[in-house]
Amino acid sequence: MKEVILISDLTCPECGYTKTESMPEDACQWLYECEGCHTLLKPLAGDCCVFCSYGTVPCPPVQIAPDKGCCTS
Ligand SMILES: [Zn+2]
Repeated sequence: MKEVILISDLTCPECGYTKTESMPEDACQWLYECEGCHTLLKPLAGDCCVFCSYGTVPCPPVQIAPDKGCCTS
């Protein structure tokens, strides 16, 4: 069983503000509001969630099955 990391540092692309966030174990997050500049962040093209785009760690479903991704249904 692979160990899943549930903590990721999200960095805002607008203002550079970094916040450590915990991720839900079996879901991913599409939207995230930056606490620094209150920009609503959305995933980059090809990414399934804000953690994959802006976090230091990809979201848990991607860690478990990197080739499958998440939110593809
Ligand atoms: Zn920001």
